Amino acid sequence: MTVRLQRIAASAVRTAARGSTHAARPTAAAATRVSAPATSPRSRTTSYRPAFTRPSRLFSTSRSTRQAEPLNQELEFPEVERVQDECDVCIVGGGPAGLSAAIQLAKLAKEKGEEVRIVVLEKGAEVGAHILSGAVIETRALDELIPDWKEKGAPLNQPALSDSMRWLTPTGSFPMPHPPQMANKGNYIISLSKLSRWLAEQAEELGVEIYPGFAGAKLLYTEDGSAIRGVQTNDIGLDKNFQPKDSFEPGMEFLAKVTLLAEGCHGSLSKQAQAKFGLREGKDPQTYGLGIKEVWKVKPEKHQPGKVQHTLGWPLDNSTYGGTWLYHMEDEMVSLGIVVGLDYKNPYISPFRELQRLKHHPLFADLLEGGECIAYGARALNEGGLQSIPKLTFPGGAIIGDSAGFLNVPKIKGTHTSMKSGMLAAEAAFTAIESSRAAESESEAERDPLTAPGLDVSSYQSAFESSWIHKELKEVRNLRPSFHSKLGNWGGLIYSGIDSLLLKGRVPWTFHHPEEDYQATKPAKDFKPIDYPAPDGKLSFDILTSVSRTGTNHAEDQPVHLHIDASKRAAHVQKNVEEYAGLLGRVCPAAVYEYVDAEGDTKPDAVGKKLVINSQNCIHCKASPYSATSRLEDYADVSASSAFDSLPFRHSLLQTCSIKVPTQDITWMVPEGGGGPAYEMT
Ligand SMILES: Cc1cc2nc3c(=O)[nH]c(=O)nc-3n(C[C@H](O)[C@H](O)[C@H](O)COP(=O)(O)OP(=O)(O)OC[C@H]3O[C@@H](n4cnc5c(N)ncnc54)[C@H](O)[C@@H]3O)c2cc1C
Ligand code: SF4
Repeated sequence: MTVRLQRIAASAVRTAARGSTHAARPTAAAATRVSAPATSPRSRTTSYRPAFTRPSRLFSTSRSTRQAEPLNQELEFPEVERVQDECDVCIVGGGPAGLSAAIQLAKLAKEKGEEVRIVVLEKGAEVGAHILSGAVIETRALDELIPDWKEKGAPLNQPALSDSMRWLTPTGSFPMPHPPQMANKGNYIISLSKLSRWLAEQAEELGVEIYPGFAGAKLLYTEDGSAIRGVQTNDIGLDKNFQPKDSFEPGMEFLAKVTLLAEGCHGSLSKQAQAKFGLREGKDPQTYGLGIKEVWKVKPEKHQPGKVQHTLGWPLDNSTYGGTWLYHMEDEMVSLGIVVGLDYKNPYISPFRELQRLKHHPLFADLLEGGECIAYGARALNEGGLQSIPKLTFPGGAIIGDSAGFLNVPKIKGTHTSMKSGMLAAEAAFTAIESSRAAESESEAERDPLTAPGLDVSSYQSAFESSWIHKELKEVRNLRPSFHSKLGNWGGLIYSGIDSLLLKGRVPWTFHHPEEDYQATKPAKDFKPIDYPAPDGKLSFDILTSVSRTGTNHAEDQPVHLHIDASKRAAHVQKNVEEYAGLLGRVCPAAVYEYVDAEGDTKPDAVGKKLVINSQNCIHCKASPYSATSRLEDYADVSASSAFDSLPFRHSLLQTCSIKVPTQDITWMVPEGGGGPAYEMT
C-alpha cells in the first residue's frame, strides 16, 4: 500500500501551532464533546467524517447471521491520502486512565501558562459506552486530581456502608473473615461508565479535545522504526471484503510529541508497543479474569443502599479462581456479577452460564425476585499484578491504566491506580514537552512533527516505582499467584489469608505466574460436561436476550473484525471441537462463536462442523480476540523495521487471538469507530 501524505494540511496545522493559535485545527469548543462529534478533527484539515450514525441492525438474533469467511490476506489496498493533524499529546482511550492523564496535563499547562494541545481518541460512540466495571471505587486518585469533585457534581452518590464476604454452597452460605484490603469504608458504589462521562466533561472544560468514535488502529513509527511519532485512526467505509465503499474515509494520522496508551485491559496498540519495544522482557505473563455483570432494579423493600457483598465458592468448582459481587447502588439498583479467572482448566465452563445459575442461589434469588434486569455486559480484567506489569515507557510514549495492568486483584479495584498512573504519565509528558520547547527555542531549530520521534517520558517509570500504586501492588503481589502453587486453590486461599492478615507482603519471596491463560486449558476428556439449568426468563436469561441489553451494534457492511486465517481454519475446528469441546462457544459472553453442524450445501471446516463467527454480537470484552504475547512476537521483527509500515492497512490486526483459545489463531481488528456496546450504567 502506498500512502500519500497530505503535507499541505499538516503544514497548515503546523504553522498555526507555531503561531500560537489553534485556528487551523479543531478547537475544544468546536470539536470536543462526550459523544461522537458531528464534525471530526479532520474537518479542520481537509475532509469531513460523517457524524456517527447508529445502524438499524443492532445485534445478531439468529444463529448464523453473519459468517466470518476466510479473508484473502493479500488484498491490496488502493493508494490513499491520509489527513495529518499535529498535537502535543495523543491519548488513546477515554477511560479513567486516559481522562485523568488529560486532566492532569491540562491543569499543569494552565498552571504554567503553557499551551498544550491534548487529544483523546475513544473507540466507543460516546465516552463511557465501552466501560464496564463493578464498581466500588477508592477516591484517592480522584481526590488528588479534582479535590472539589463533590462540589463539581461527580456521580459518586452512594457511599459503601457495609461489607461482607461469604462462602457459597449450592444452597446456602456462611460468613468468611473479611480480608482487610477489601474493606470499603470511605469508598463509593458507582457506575464507572457514568464517572468516565463526567471526567470527560471536566477534561473538556480544561480545553482537552475528545473524539469519540475514533479508534486508534496503528502506531506511527519514525522512519527507522526506533520511536513512536503518533497514532493512526482506523479506516471507515470499507465493505466486508475490505474494499472501499462510497463512504470510505481513510484513517487519520495524529502526530504527537507524546503518545499515551490508555486502552484498558488487553489493549491492541499497547500490545503492539509491548512487542515492538520488548517491554515484557523479564516480566511474568499477564493473566486475566472475565467479569460478567448485570444491573437490576430491585423492589424498594429489598434494596439496602451501600451494601457490599462478595462471595467465594459455588458456583465455581474448587479448581477455578473467581468469585461474585453484589453492590447496592443508588436508585434501587444493584450491580451483580461474577469474575472467572481465565486460567481455568475445564473447557466446559461457561462464565455467562455461571452467572445465570448464580442468580438462582437463595442469596441472590430472594433479592432479585420481582425486580428487573436492566443492563448486561462483560469485560476482561488484569490479574497478573505487579510481576506482570511491563516496562511502562517507550521512545515517544507510555502505557497507562489497565493497559499496563495496575489492577489490585484482591481488592478487585483498578480505577484509582489507573487514574494515578495517568496522572504520573501526564507529569512526565508535561516536563518532556517543556524541555523540548526550551531546547527548540535555544537552538532555534524547529522540530518537524512529520518525522521527529516522540519525546522521552521515562521519568514516568521511576515516578511509578516510588508512588503509592507500587507500594499497594507490592503488598499484595503474592496473593493471586499463590493460587498457581501445588496446593491449588485451597492452598492459595490459606496463603492469601495469612499474607493479608499477617505478612502484608513483607516477605523476601515473590511468586510467579507460570503460563499464559490459554496454556492452562485442559482437554475436555478430563472433565464431564457441566449441566447448566435452562434459563427461566425471570432470574436467568439466554445469551442473546442478555446481549440485547448491551445496546451493541456494528455497522452492517464492514469488514468482519474477527478472523481465522483460511489456512488455519480446518485445524482450528478440528482441535477446538475434538479436543476442547468447542470452548470458544462458551467463553465468549456474547455468543459470537458457534461450531454448527454442516448441513445441506454447507461445507464443513472439519469433523462435520463449520465455525460461525457472529462478529456483530461482539461486546468488546476482550476475552477472546486480542493476542497472547507469544503471537505478537511473531510480528516483532517486522514491526521493528520500516517494513511494518508496508503491511496491508490492517496493521491493527497485530493483536492476534485470544486469551483463552488453545489454538491461539483468532485475529481481531478494531471495528469501525463507534461500533460495539452502548453501556450507560455499567
Ligand atoms: C468486572 C470488573 C469489575 C471491576 N470492579 C472494579 C471495582 O469495583 N473497583 C475498581 O476500582 N475497579 C474495578 N475494576 C477495574 C476497573 O474497571 C479498571 O481498572 C479501570 O476501568 C481501568 O481504567 P482504564 O482507563 O485503564 O481502562 P478502561 O476503563 O477499560 O477504559 C479504556 C477506554 O479506552 C477505549 N479504547 C480501548 N482501545 C481503544 C483504541 N484502540 N482506540 C480508542 N479507544 C480505545 C475503551 O473503549 C475505553 O473507553 C473492575 C473491572 C472489571 C472488568
Ligand atoms: S468475540 Fe471475544 S471480545 Fe467479543 S464478546 Fe466474544 S469473547 Fe469478548
